[in-house]
Amino acid sequence: MANNNTSKIDLPAIGFGTFKSEIGDVTYRSTLDALEAGYRNIDTATVYGNEADVGRALKDSKFKREEISITTKLWNSSWGETKALQAFDKSLEVMGLDYVDVYLIHWPVPAKYRDNYKEKMLETYKVLEKLHGEGKIKHIGVSNFKVHHLEFLLDNISIKPEVNQIEFHPGHYQKDILEYCNKHNILVQAWGPLGQGSLLENELLTEIAKKYNKNVAQVCIRWCIEKGVMPLPKSNNKDRIISNFNVFDFSLSKEDISAIDNMAPAGFSGLDPDNIEF
Ligand code: NDP
Repeated sequence: MANNNTSKIDLPAIGFGTFKSEIGDVTYRSTLDALEAGYRNIDTATVYGNEADVGRALKDSKFKREEISITTKLWNSSWGETKALQAFDKSLEVMGLDYVDVYLIHWPVPAKYRDNYKEKMLETYKVLEKLHGEGKIKHIGVSNFKVHHLEFLLDNISIKPEVNQIEFHPGHYQKDILEYCNKHNILVQAWGPLGQGSLLENELLTEIAKKYNKNVAQVCIRWCIEKGVMPLPKSNNKDRIISNFNVFDFSLSKEDISAIDNMAPAGFSGLDPDNIEF
């Protein structure tokens, strides 16, 4: 299978994650390592504090801007018309970019707006629509949206989100959200595709990995791809960055995909988007 996404919008099959990637040279170096390894999409967020390092790596790489897609996210404290515009401009400025490929509303229900998030969500989303109209956001997206958040949004906005980035990994198969997104042509991106590192000793996944002469991380990443989901594995280690990308020379059998689909819950972060504390 080639390294491009066959469905929905034009993004690669895999992106590179940067959550908890240390600010400064660690993120800069690993982003460059990822680009060299073949990743063509980098996922950052304002709240990670490392947008500048991603931007610097992109600038210093051998790639033209249009060859790499960059995703960043609007943090919960920047909801509302004025703050959202300011936050977006700041992201562009620190990354040294004049547009982003994908801009996501990071969470559907910031703790501050738990009792009245709907109105504020629409006000915020309209800012993204405006920026999209100005060509500064190529694709509008959301993150951590459950079906009921998406239903509300789709009923009330004019430009549909093209991406929903959710926690998605073996042991946390959010099938209802995936099915809804497929129906509405929204690409699902998988955050925590390795269960944030917690799935790597899982017995079933270890057994499956052995059969293909692959490691558990590669099986987790491949499973996302088999489901039509775009995984965003993060690593700051060059060998693991390369290894996580090395998933295009095998595919999982129907039986193994089904075994993973139905495995016992594992690796869940515990974060419920309707009840976050931030
Ligand atoms: P991942 O599932 O990608 O796991 C990352 C962890 O696994 C790190 O500790 C990493 O350590 C380790 N790791 C990576 N590859 C391997 C390997 N081959 N073998 C062993 N260990 C490995 O979790 P993330 O939380 O980072 O999720 C991925 C990305 O999704 C994030 O980086 C971020 O971009 C995005 N995200 C989005 C969220 C949202 O709300 N929208 C929430 C959380 C994440 P090491 O670096 O040492 O290799």
